Amino acid sequence: VNDAGRLSIDETVERIKALVGPKGWVSDPNDIEPYLVEPRGLFHGATRLVVRPASTADVAAIVTLCAAAKLPIVPQGGNTGLVGAQVPPENGNNIVVSLQRMNKIRAVDPLNYTMTVEAGVILADIQKAAEEADRLFPLSLGAEGSCRIGGNLSTNAGGVGVLRYGNTRDLALGLEVVLPDGRIWDGLRALRKDNTGYDLKQLFIGGEGTLGIITAAVLKLFPRPREIETAMIALANVDDVMEIFARARAASGDQLTAFELIPRFGIEMTTQHLHGISDPIAAAYPWYVLLEISSSEASGASRAKLENFLAAQIEAGLVVDGVIAASAAQAANIWRIRDGMTEAQGYEGGSIKHDVSVPVSRVAEFIRTAMAAVEARLPGIRPCPFGHVGDGNIHFNLSQPKGADPKGVDKAAYLARWGEFNDIVHGIVAALGGSISAEHGIGRLKRDEITHYKSPLELDLMRKIKHALDPDGIMNPGKVIAAE
Ligand SMILES: Cc1cc2nc3c(=O)[nH]c(=O)nc-3n(C[C@H](O)[C@H](O)[C@H](O)COP(=O)(O)OP(=O)(O)OC[C@H]3O[C@@H](n4cnc5c(N)ncnc54)[C@H](O)[C@@H]3O)c2cc1C
Repeated sequence: VNDAGRLSIDETVERIKALVGPKGWVSDPNDIEPYLVEPRGLFHGATRLVVRPASTADVAAIVTLCAAAKLPIVPQGGNTGLVGAQVPPENGNNIVVSLQRMNKIRAVDPLNYTMTVEAGVILADIQKAAEEADRLFPLSLGAEGSCRIGGNLSTNAGGVGVLRYGNTRDLALGLEVVLPDGRIWDGLRALRKDNTGYDLKQLFIGGEGTLGIITAAVLKLFPRPREIETAMIALANVDDVMEIFARARAASGDQLTAFELIPRFGIEMTTQHLHGISDPIAAAYPWYVLLEISSSEASGASRAKLENFLAAQIEAGLVVDGVIAASAAQAANIWRIRDGMTEAQGYEGGSIKHDVSVPVSRVAEFIRTAMAAVEARLPGIRPCPFGHVGDGNIHFNLSQPKGADPKGVDKAAYLARWGEFNDIVHGIVAALGGSISAEHGIGRLKRDEITHYKSPLELDLMRKIKHALDPDGIMNPGKVIAAE
């Protein structure tokens, strides 16, 4: 105990270990390693302790001890985040609080179309539990087998269902949160209407663990789709993509559930590098869209709508070719192309990535302008713009020029230009009224970058909110906004 009557950091760590018991902490360097590196390997942190509480009460007790000792905490879910927010800093001064053991589904209420879950439940398990109750939980993304709902909420994750159902923010009705001083806020309301002042849960959703630890949530459910129709269509010109999108929304009776852009490069990469994927359309075209229509009514109407839509757009000359999946296997093949884009691009050497959004009406303009700008800066660079263009969200990834050694110094030299290409692309995004982080967040990766694109007023408000909830800066420090 120090002069101020506080426990030292060492004593605090021992108290935490005793509190959670032997199953509740990890300190062996080999066992700790998976908690320290994020999926792209951009950040590799250090820590003396990973603590794995099993209940909200345990989380509150841990945070209370940390608050007293001013010991910083990094909350972690499935460790699939792409901006380095969930890994501790290299100095080893933060402990990691992993929510993995808090993986219970507390209640499913099919009549209220809600589910109450602990923060550590894996997203795929939530989808499965909803299906077992004849309901749909529509959040769906590439990492769904390992990301956890507390992480999805804290990053306000997007994914492929946003077009119809919204981001994670739109799918949460209530939260339970342990605040940076250790108090538990029980906001687990299952209400569709609740106009009783500030909507506090919205601070924690997308807060990347900087304002508190989410321990549980009430999620919205939807009717389960009974028919899903998937198509791949080919376009000669990227300028047509948003006109086709607008027409598809109208023609489907607003039942469009996915509208994902894929360039020719994406088809080539996935069919070449990944197993069991075939090109669904015989001829080659510069651009493709994966399009999905779904309905909770099994009447066959979705199929007819899709066929009529495709025929009309081919007739109008907007779509040059297309295929509607005739079986679940064909639909899966089309989705494998979309889902395999990032993995396949890994085989093409270095990739400089941008997760950006612009107003839906300006997607084509962004793609054209940004492709021309990066090609002018580095001839031979291979842009791969793809993703959720129905939400105005483009993953504008840039593969290194062909011929450069994917494993050697060329890759490192290429990746060293990450900031230079960010400046070019983010400048165009800003000029079009867009966002430099559409769905992955800020974390450490974009923490300094964001200061150029948010107004001083917005940054000031963000700092004030952080300071009001976490005056000692112990909750995921150094992420989202820099300490003053
Ligand atoms: C292959 C792949 C595909 C992906 N596709 C998409 C996509 O389509 N759309 C998309 O939006 N993202 C996508 N992501 C990013 C990632 O999966 C999401 O951001 C996901 O929501 C993170 O969840 P997680 O449990 O892994 O959180 P983590 O990575 O563990 O943490 C992410 C952030 O949340 C905080 N956090 C975690 N749990 C809590 C908690 N209980 N309380 C408070 N803070 C917490 C962490 O401190 C960190 O700031 C993808 C990632 C991969 C690897």
